[in-house]
Amino acid sequence: MKKVAIVGAGIVGICSAYFLKKSGFDVTVIDKEEPGSMTSFGHACSFADYANVPINYPGLIWDLPSMLLKKDGPLTVDFFYILKNLPWAIKFLRNCKKDKVDEIASSLTNILKHSHLSYDEIFKDINVSQFISNEENLYLFDTKKSFDDYDYANKIREKNNVKVRNLTKDEVKELEPNIEDVYYSGQLFKGSKHTTNPLAISQKIFKVFLELGGKYIKKNVKNIINRNENIEIIIENNNIYFDKLIICAGAWSNQIANMIGENFPLDTERGYHILFETSERLIKRPVAWSESGFYLIQVHNGLRAAGTVEIAGLNKPPNMKRIKMIERQSRKVLPQLGKIKSTWMGRRPTLPDSLPIIGKSPRNSNVIYAFGHQHLGWTLGAVTGKIVNTIVNDQKPNIDIEAYSPNRF
Ligand SMILES: Cc1cc2nc3c(=O)[nH]c(=O)nc-3n(C[C@H](O)[C@H](O)[C@H](O)COP(=O)(O)OP(=O)(O)OC[C@H]3O[C@@H](n4cnc5c(N)ncnc54)[C@H](O)[C@@H]3O)c2cc1C
Repeated sequence: MKKVAIVGAGIVGICSAYFLKKSGFDVTVIDKEEPGSMTSFGHACSFADYANVPINYPGLIWDLPSMLLKKDGPLTVDFFYILKNLPWAIKFLRNCKKDKVDEIASSLTNILKHSHLSYDEIFKDINVSQFISNEENLYLFDTKKSFDDYDYANKIREKNNVKVRNLTKDEVKELEPNIEDVYYSGQLFKGSKHTTNPLAISQKIFKVFLELGGKYIKKNVKNIINRNENIEIIIENNNIYFDKLIICAGAWSNQIANMIGENFPLDTERGYHILFETSERLIKRPVAWSESGFYLIQVHNGLRAAGTVEIAGLNKPPNMKRIKMIERQSRKVLPQLGKIKSTWMGRRPTLPDSLPIIGKSPRNSNVIYAFGHQHLGWTLGAVTGKIVNTIVNDQKPNIDIEAYSPNRF
């Protein structure tokens, strides 16, 4: 039986482990943290199969100054960090040309449309229905201008057959009466779903993986030596040998790739969440607030406000100004919110073209990469796991994965 190592137990690693174990491999997951406890824990909970509009968009470069000056805007950057990492920023901006954006949107649609079906394959064996809600996501436009500016996104969605429904203010009020009267209009993403407890889903899938005979080592991967005959993974005082290696360590994946002499333009978009106490259920569905770029989601233990983008690298401590901003704006939309129970910062793994890398390493034939899922890793966890499984089985995936190739940079 072939021995497969998976580095990273976020949702991508967990789903890959599940599919590979079911295929009969001897699978070991290695992570320094508890499974599902990093970026895959604190996100905005959406199975966002509609989210095919990349954050690269034509005209972004011209909008940047006003975005950055906006007091409670969705984006903030650490200029010293950007200056040190200029090549990534330049590559990112190069992907904002109209043709390129159309291409990226179509490649995102291509994988997103398999996302629900792939989770269904897992969920037919593992019952997580108590953690999933079918109430569709609602996007709230703060002003007419933000509604009008969204036209380009609507066109991309329409072109790729993603269904939305525009709502007047009164229609929004009917759906979500507790929201304060601070918005212009809304939009519903048809057929979207969300979870009320991402960690519980990750843990349940991982538990079944272990019950099937999968192994878990809670250690930091220090180094990797790839030889033709095997792959040696060095974890603290131990060396372990495998036939295949899957690298799905989210925002840290390039650090692991560097260990085997490869390098990718991976950076991180940091995001935050606040968990508020609520004495009652305030909203039925995830509600996105356009002014500040976060979602409000009623989760199992309160109300989570999650989102925003900060470009400041992996290592800087959390920026409390962002937390304050999210609190201020959340209370503006939902003044009934109670006390803050906890706060969190996570690191989205982002490549300059907003597409993930899923495929065999160009230089190390026993290594498979699966990372860079930016704002969509929760949505794309299962479909990525399925693709990884077909690659390890030397089969052809039923999705064209050329656009996600590790060779493209
Ligand atoms: C605020 C916010 C909101 C979001 N909202 C959504 C949403 O609504 N829908 C959606 O689809 N996506 C959303 N995302 C994106 C999504 O959360 C991520 O894309 C996804 O969680 C990435 O999963 P992953 O498995 O690649 O990485 P992670 O979950 O980060 O897992 C990577 C793992 O690798 C491990 N690791 C790293 N280095 C090492 C090492 N040297 N040795 C051992 N282990 C190592 C880490 O400990 C970690 O457990 C959001 C993200 C943020 C920040």
